[in-house]
Amino acid sequence: VSYLDYNATAPIRPEAAAAVIEAMQSVGNASSIHQPGRRAAHRVDLARRQLAALLNCSPGEIIFTSGATEANNLALRSTYIPGRPLVTSPVEHPAVLETARMVTVERPEDLVLLPVGSDGLVDLNAVEQVFATRSGGVVSLMRANNETGVLTDLRVVAKAAREVGALVHTDATQIVGRLPVDVAELDVDLLSLSAHKFGGPQGVGALYVRRGTPLPPRSLLVGGEQERGLRAGTLNVAGIVGMGAAADVVRRDLSEEAKRITALRDRLERLLTCALPNCRINGRRDQRLPGVTSITFPGVPADAVLAAMPDVAASEGSACASGAPTPSHVLLAMGLSREDADSTIRFSLGYVTTDAEIEHAAQAVARAVTQVRSALADGSR
Ligand code: PLP
Repeated sequence: VSYLDYNATAPIRPEAAAAVIEAMQSVGNASSIHQPGRRAAHRVDLARRQLAALLNCSPGEIIFTSGATEANNLALRSTYIPGRPLVTSPVEHPAVLETARMVTVERPEDLVLLPVGSDGLVDLNAVEQVFATRSGGVVSLMRANNETGVLTDLRVVAKAAREVGALVHTDATQIVGRLPVDVAELDVDLLSLSAHKFGGPQGVGALYVRRGTPLPPRSLLVGGEQERGLRAGTLNVAGIVGMGAAADVVRRDLSEEAKRITALRDRLERLLTCALPNCRINGRRDQRLPGVTSITFPGVPADAVLAAMPDVAASEGSACASGAPTPSHVLLAMGLSREDADSTIRFSLGYVTTDAEIEHAAQAVARAVTQVRSALADGSR
């Protein structure tokens, strides 16, 4: 099987798997003061330093969570202030978009969705327009889109937000471990990530909270005082340790890996556009994550293509949306028709992807698309 669904989840890195197993075989609650507890706390401290090194922040600025969904919820629920704007975009992951809708349900005028172009770029000038008349609040924009890979230049956003005292949150789930992420350079106050997108285990993630950012405790979970009162609940020591190990590995050869994966992605696009000349690549091509491509095969339903190539693991739009009857909200926001959105497949590559897999996948996709297209033509004859 060619596994080309890294944006849904990446294979666990061997170093991370080993760290998880080792941690799971040791008893200890990181909040306990006896020796086993202290040992667990030390493991967590190391992971916090490893993750902080990947993000260029200090370890004390990291709050461990169960993943990016929780980190996004925590970020928005603890920063939105009724009466102040919550600025986001229609191409965000549902963990941001639905949370934003929910917290503003009684004051829908507070929710501002910035316009998105057909290339998937959010219109950043619109941030300045919002802040020309309103101040404070929070802006939440993803650094990299999970369906198209399109990147957002957050420094422009941060500058505009800073001038009016608004906080900046970014969902960086798809970029952490794939391209360098430096929170100081991005100038954001809050950043969400999830371990399983970069080779750590599933069910663990983090929220970076810049020192001095005022977050009220208990805005999401009520319970113990873990994570400075911001995230109650026994720490997932094994998950956290696995995430730390993955962070440590990816940090070492991020740029080399990104170059290799970009070349593979470009090769896949070349092979497919050659074999199927009317296919279309979605999103701004020169401002994307290395390993992602979203391709529309006009008139050919993606679910039928995926079913016709069981040995290629790719996805329709996003994994979170597939299975649901609604087409990708990201592609619709970029102006694709419903039919085109339903005829789009996302391929996402990563650190284990090989040349041979790309070769094989390109042939399988071309064959499957041709087969489905001719079956449809036969059916309508
Ligand atoms: N944000 C983005 C951009 C994602 O791609 C995902 C996962 O698909 C999430 C958030 C949610 O991550 P998790 O399911 O690990 O909580």
